[in-house]
This record gives sequence, C-alpha cells and structure tokens, in this order.
Amino acid sequence: MSSSFADTVLSSVSARNPAEPEFLQAVREVIESIEPVIAKRPEIVKMKIVERLVEPERQLMFRVPWINDAGDVQINRGFRVQFNSALGPYKGGLRLHPSVNLGIIKFLGFEQIFKNALTTTPIGGGKGGSDFDPKGKSDREIMCFCQSFMTELYRHIGPDTDVPAGDIGVGGREIGFLFGQYKKITNTFTGVLTGKGLNYGGSLARKEATGYGLVYFTTRMLQERGTGWEGKTVVVSGSGNVAIYAIEKAQELGARVVALSDSNGYIYDPEGIKLNTVKRIKEVERGRIKEYAAEHASARYTEGCGDIWGIPCDIALPCATQNELEQKDAELLRNHKCIAVAEGANMPSTPEAVKVFHDAGIAFGPAKAANAGGVATSALEMAQNSMRLSWPFEEVDQRLHQIMDNIYTQCFSAAESYGLKGNLVAGANIAGFLRVADAMLAQGV
Ligand code: NDP
Repeated sequence: MSSSFADTVLSSVSARNPAEPEFLQAVREVIESIEPVIAKRPEIVKMKIVERLVEPERQLMFRVPWINDAGDVQINRGFRVQFNSALGPYKGGLRLHPSVNLGIIKFLGFEQIFKNALTTTPIGGGKGGSDFDPKGKSDREIMCFCQSFMTELYRHIGPDTDVPAGDIGVGGREIGFLFGQYKKITNTFTGVLTGKGLNYGGSLARKEATGYGLVYFTTRMLQERGTGWEGKTVVVSGSGNVAIYAIEKAQELGARVVALSDSNGYIYDPEGIKLNTVKRIKEVERGRIKEYAAEHASARYTEGCGDIWGIPCDIALPCATQNELEQKDAELLRNHKCIAVAEGANMPSTPEAVKVFHDAGIAFGPAKAANAGGVATSALEMAQNSMRLSWPFEEVDQRLHQIMDNIYTQCFSAAESYGLKGNLVAGANIAGFLRVADAMLAQGV
C-alpha cells in the first residue's frame, strides 16, 4: 500500500467514525502494519479488502430496560457489532462497564477479527456489551439486566450465526443468566454462548484459558531470548479473570508475581502474591483488591493504579483495560530493565508505549496474539458442543498450548518474511490479515 493509500483509508475511516478514538487507534495500527503486504498483493487493493474490513457487516444498538431492587426503572444501551464473518460465525465477548460506547465495541470487534483468524479456528469477529455497571448490583439486578439484554439480542445470534462470550464484567454468573433467557425464548439448548457452566455445556479450562494462554505465548517470547519464567519478577495489572489465571500459570512456572490491581488501586507484595486470597476476594466475595493488604502484612496497598508500572520487574503483563500503559509507564519499565511485556488485556499499551518497547528491544507480545487463548478455547467449547462431548481438562489445555505455540510461530514467521524480525505487532497483524483477506477474496464482494 502506498502511504497515500493508507492515508486515504485512514482519513475516510476518521470521517465516517467521528468521536471513536479507540476504534481509530486499532485501525491505524493494523493498516500501518500491513503496508508491506498490500504493496505485494494488488488484488487486495482492487477488491477493496481493507475498505470492506473497516466497515462492520452489521452494528446493533438497542434499549435495555430493567428494574432495580428499589423498584425504579433503569435504561441502559446494548450493543452488538458483527464485524466480519469471512472465517466463521461472529465470535467475541460481551463487556459490561459504564465506559462502554459504540467506539469501544468497534475497536474490540475489529481486533477480534484478526485475533480469531490467528487461532486458525473457524470463527469470525464480533463484540458486544452495554454501559451497564455491574459493580454493587445484587444478583437479582444482574439477572434482570441480563434477561432484558438477551430479550433483544437473541434474535441476532445463534450457534452458527454469532456466539457471544464474556469480557470485562461478564463471567460465569452473567453467562448463566444470558443462556437461561436465550433457552427460554427460543426453546433450544444450543452452544449459543461460550464460557458456560461446566454442568450445562461449558468447557473445562475455558476459565483459565486467556491467562494460561498469555503465559504460554510469553514463554515463547522468553525462549527466543534464551530464558524462561523461573525466578523472574512479574507485575500484573487487573485482578479479574485474565489476571488471576495468568498469575496462576506464571507462579506454577516459577515466577514471583509481586503486584496486581483493580480500578481503585494496586497491591505490592514483595514476598509474592498469595493467589488463594485474591481468588477468594475477587471470585467468591466480589470484593476490592485493597482487602488483600489487611490479610498479608508483607503487602502494601496504594490508592490509584497509575504507578503500578513503577515497580521494578522482569516481565509485565497488563491485564486490565485499554490504554492503561502509557509512554511514561513504558519508560519506567525500560529503565528498570524489564525484558518482556505481553498484553492480557485488549490494547492496554498506547502506541507511544509500544514504540518505547520496540526502541528498547523489549520483547513485546500484542494483545491480538498474546490473549487469543480465551477465544481459541471458546472455539474448542463450540466444537465440544457440536459433538455433544466434553474433553478432559488436560486435553483442552494441551490444545490451547498448541494453539498459542502456533500463533507465536505465525507471528514470528510473518514478521521475519516481511523483513521485520522480532516485531510481533507487525507479525500478528500481517498473519491475521492475510487469513481474513484470502477468505474475503475467495467469497467475492
Ligand atoms: P474482569 O471483569 O474479570 O476483570 C477486569 C479487571 O480489570 C478488574 O480487575 C478491573 O477492576 C480492571 N479494570 C477494568 N476496567 C478498568 C479501568 N478502566 N481501569 C483500571 N482497571 C480496570 O475482565 P477480564 O479479566 O475478563 O478482562 C480484562 C481484559 O482482558 C479486558 O481488556 C478484556 O477485553 C481482555 N480479554 C479478556 C478475555 C477473557 O477471556 N475474559 C479474552 C481476551 C481479552 P475493577 O474490578 O475495579 O473494575
């Protein structure tokens, strides 16, 4: 792609999607990365593959009315962006967080296309959610919201059409309520959602998959530098699903994880995070990470999570949310001789931060490759549902491990073959893009 072509596409995307900075950030990164591919593949330009890719196939926005425990009517906004189905049914999570808007869902859906392609499982890209804030809500309020959300969403999804899953604010409890309502309305018991409970169609190892997959991917990054996890100091942001299981696997492999956070603040425990305490606080009691410090004298709690990247570490795993790791944080990590950064969250590092990592020669694993283990295992859940079988934990985990190894190899090789050895951002974007572009070319306009 000549840069004038890239500029034309980007300025058209900006004009057509005003006030969606995260979406534009995600599009810019992909378009800039695939320039060398486009230069070699004129048919991609002729068939307007890039222009078609940046336009979602379908965008749904709907009203979600529900009643709180005080008896008051509440109104939220629901979203589902069905971005691209060239490789399979739309697939991607649902996010429940007050910051959700169309631009956030579009950025996540756009990233999901390439991530899902990298897994080499047959799934397209989509994403959804709502500006509903689950924090502090009762189980009844969560159920009421989920039922109302599904009462509209059900008509747009299906096991061969669009298969949502969890994301921020959507775990096993929410998936259960959503699934129950879908089943009631449609009178079908199908694999229409992933991340389901184990006794009604869920897959073993799905809960662990994003975090474990992140660590498997990072293992390859470390191996490339002739090292491993043993004895390494690790800082993780977030304390949700991805963070908890990344910590579990990193500890299992001999690392010392010293910090984690939630949106209120962070914990620094130089003796190593006690994961059982974190699991109880976050998964059972749905409490705040601050409570950890009250139970462990070695730990210190700091209000506000901005400084977490100032803690010296060998490996940093941002696992909370988008743009949480800025240039100044990347500079701190560099100054403290951090050797590897891998993204558990979606787009947690700003473009300026990524540049610092690349310039400093820090191994950097971008989200769409490093955190693809969750959706890959969701595809394995879909496969098990279709066969009406359940695989043992070890089998799913082994397949996940193979998929993450394969994603690393694809990214590494794609970067190398375009003269960008070691640049896994370019590698992930190129490998994912080529898979989708070739399918779109084969399927016509
Ligand atoms: P959870 O809801 O389980 O946990 C999210 C964690 O991040 C919580 O600790 C939360 O803190 C923190 N967090 C959320 N928003 C913010 C914010 N604005 N500022 C600071 N901290 C914040 O979500 P997941 O663990 O599932 O998701 C985390 C990230 O991983 C997201 O970017 C998601 O898109 C990505 N991801 C998730 C996958 C999955 O399988 N679940 C798959 C691939 C990517 P608090 O509790 O205070 O809100």
